[in-house]
Amino acid sequence: MHSFNYLDGQLYGERVKVEDIAREVGTPFYLYSCETLTNHYRNFEKALAGLEHLICYAYKANSNLALCKILAKEGCGADVVSGGELRKALQAGVPPEKIVFNGNGKTVEEMELALQSNILMFNVDSRPELLLLDEVAGRSGKKARIALRVNPDIDPQTHPHIATGLKESKFGFEFSQVIEGYKLAQTLRNIEVAGIQMHIGSQITKVDPFVEALKKIVDLAGELKKLDIKIKYVNVGGGLGITYSDEEPPSFADYAQSVIPAIKEIGAKGIFEPGRVLVGNAGILVTKVLYVKETQSKKFVVVDAGMGDLFRPAFYSAYHEIKPVNLKAESQNLKADIVGPICESGDFLAKDREIPAVKRGEFLAVFSAGAYGFSMASNYNSRLRPAEVLVKEDKFRIVRKRETYEDLGRGEDEQD
Ligand SMILES: *Cc1c(COP(=O)(O)O)cnc(C)c1O
Repeated sequence: MHSFNYLDGQLYGERVKVEDIAREVGTPFYLYSCETLTNHYRNFEKALAGLEHLICYAYKANSNLALCKILAKEGCGADVVSGGELRKALQAGVPPEKIVFNGNGKTVEEMELALQSNILMFNVDSRPELLLLDEVAGRSGKKARIALRVNPDIDPQTHPHIATGLKESKFGFEFSQVIEGYKLAQTLRNIEVAGIQMHIGSQITKVDPFVEALKKIVDLAGELKKLDIKIKYVNVGGGLGITYSDEEPPSFADYAQSVIPAIKEIGAKGIFEPGRVLVGNAGILVTKVLYVKETQSKKFVVVDAGMGDLFRPAFYSAYHEIKPVNLKAESQNLKADIVGPICESGDFLAKDREIPAVKRGEFLAVFSAGAYGFSMASNYNSRLRPAEVLVKEDKFRIVRKRETYEDLGRGEDEQD
């Protein structure tokens, strides 16, 4: 399901040799495929054809403007979680009526910007946020359309850092308090109830958690109906998983078939907030081998990308497939930790990994790096964040320049 393939031992992004890009752009860099991204979006759209719906791409997965523009042109909406992401969505050309605003810490300034922009709705995380939004909307002379984010208390069977629908999670209204939340919303003059929202976690590789959570949402919508509170939109969040190694996540069609009946039963329009499933496998990270180091007990392949470029292995022990960009038929395997240059023991891309033997100066591709890759990058150790490159058919272009040392010091006080 992606456009990074080997031909005669050479890795290509669409029809361009990755090694050629590496020589021209330098390393490390992210490489995205226009074709893969577009196909993912179109396939998701196709799977949802039987339902009135809106797909709002989760900008936090990767908010590179070039990718956002590709999706916006396809007709995709945006799920934003900050004023910065909202500005990017508008800049990418997403119509405001296709933008939803998530997050548990919205500020007054962010609310004002979203209200002025006339976005589709706010997914409200808590009672105090609801009260503040009413106040801000009143002052702005606007009515805020809202969904309440409901925490359905479902185990999504994923990594604890990315499970968000458990009872102890910081996100959303506790199930037992949500009816009260809607009753309150109905009394607020500058609030218009539009929907229900949930987001139970990320990298979910089965449909069951979605189905289970939606059962609760159907019950909730029934209760609300009795109170004469009309639900026009059911937002099922994102969370659909991808293949990093041998996971077998549901296809778009399987996922759609499992969630559509509940949304239809409620008689609502569906909103979807996919992030990872659209961009994850549309990107790779390309890095160069700096050293191959041997100790008595271990081998280390030291590369020029680390946790500052791709945080997922260090942060959640995430697995990413790693292969040489140039596969030589005769090469033997070596088993090593593939580590970055950052001064932290946690700075690794892979542990005890078998890969074809590589030497200093050769390039490695880290696969499935399009989601939560660059968007989580940092300047830790005063390193420059990597370049981002987009390939389309037989052409590539830099869609974000590698940072410079001027970027690094920007805003710092240079006085003695
Ligand atoms: C992170 C997030 C998403 C996207 O999650 P993916 O797992 O990348 O699909 C969608 N909705 C909300 C509210 C989120 O926080």
